Amino acid sequence: MEKTSLKVNRERLLETLKVSSSIGSTGNGGLNRLALSEADKNMRDIFVDWLKEEGLEVRIDDFGNIYGRRKGKKDGPSVAIGSHLDTQPCGGKYDGILGVLTALEVIRVLNENDIETEYPVEVINFTNEEGARFSPPMLGSGGITGNFSKDFIYGLKDDEGISFEQALNEINYMGDIKNRITNIKNFIELHIEQGPILHEKHKTIGIVQGIQGNDLFTVKVTGKTNHAGPTPMKNRRDALVAASKMIVKVNEITNEIPGLKTTVGKMNVRPNVTNVIPGEVEFTIDIRHEDNDLRSHAFERLKEQLSAIALMSEVELTITTDWNSETTLFAPAVKDAIKNAADEFGYSAMELFSGPGHDSKYMAGVADTGMIFVPSVDGISHNEQELTLDDDIEKGANVLLHVVQKLAKDKL
Ligand SMILES: [Zn+2]
Repeated sequence: MEKTSLKVNRERLLETLKVSSSIGSTGNGGLNRLALSEADKNMRDIFVDWLKEEGLEVRIDDFGNIYGRRKGKKDGPSVAIGSHLDTQPCGGKYDGILGVLTALEVIRVLNENDIETEYPVEVINFTNEEGARFSPPMLGSGGITGNFSKDFIYGLKDDEGISFEQALNEINYMGDIKNRITNIKNFIELHIEQGPILHEKHKTIGIVQGIQGNDLFTVKVTGKTNHAGPTPMKNRRDALVAASKMIVKVNEITNEIPGLKTTVGKMNVRPNVTNVIPGEVEFTIDIRHEDNDLRSHAFERLKEQLSAIALMSEVELTITTDWNSETTLFAPAVKDAIKNAADEFGYSAMELFSGPGHDSKYMAGVADTGMIFVPSVDGISHNEQELTLDDDIEKGANVLLHVVQKLAKDKL
């Protein structure tokens, strides 16, 4: 058999996805499968059964990450594939789930064709990628790659005060540190784009160049609280009026720097009373661009502009950095393999950057990593309306299969 002719089993893959879509269903086409919840446990149990049915050696590590290992001719470094099965509270049924289930489908195809790869292939489900129950996101991948300490992760609490460690024990997925994946040749993650680019450009396969860097700041504007009735306009030091002018600048700076994205997503006003002039306002600024220099240039420009507004408005300004994340670039060998696979199948493909973070961001620090994006209809994600078409799921899975064959050196 020509190895390039191998394809995934569309019906089986869609059937597997259907099972996943019923676990934690919102009843409205979406999923509520928060990390380490009862629904997550149910999904994990089924997933582990699926891995075992394929004869994989299943391991659970001390962050609850699940691995299924398929032996290679060598005991050497493995080609790891996967993503995450957890969702937002009102999330979609595709997201990272597709990355895990297409990885499982790849194993099924390799097995039924008796293909022996040079390197082992490991399927991974990472814990708490979403960060919806335990914040920050990407804890499972961040933990094994040393981006977060075990104490930090175990101590994180959800809204009900339940710690990560407790939740992991409660669903019976507390594994062993010795089960963490360590020797990794490649990590490949298939994921929905979560943005509109592939859909708008009518492309099927996204060859992800990397993950955009992202800086997060908190801005505090301090004016003077006073009564809305007697205080003349000229005597006011209204923190909210000053903050509003600043927020407009945060938005307008994107006209100066192509590709820059800025967002003010959160704001607190104090005292937040109808007849009191706001004395203090805090808001966040999220800045994203794949060019690290342009991103920091944007921040410097904003600092000047915001300081000028503060001076004119007679308010005090403090800006604190909450988060700083450089752009992650994916491995050329993986990007080439994705491009070649798409070309072989005759699928339309394009290069793009990921706006959101993914487990691949951390995995890129320990292995040659890459991502395959499939289109999100209208760019909708983290939403019950999230949709990726069956044809695109199948095509994405075919590309993943070929990339795995190539990187794990399938010798037929
Ligand atoms: Zn995801």
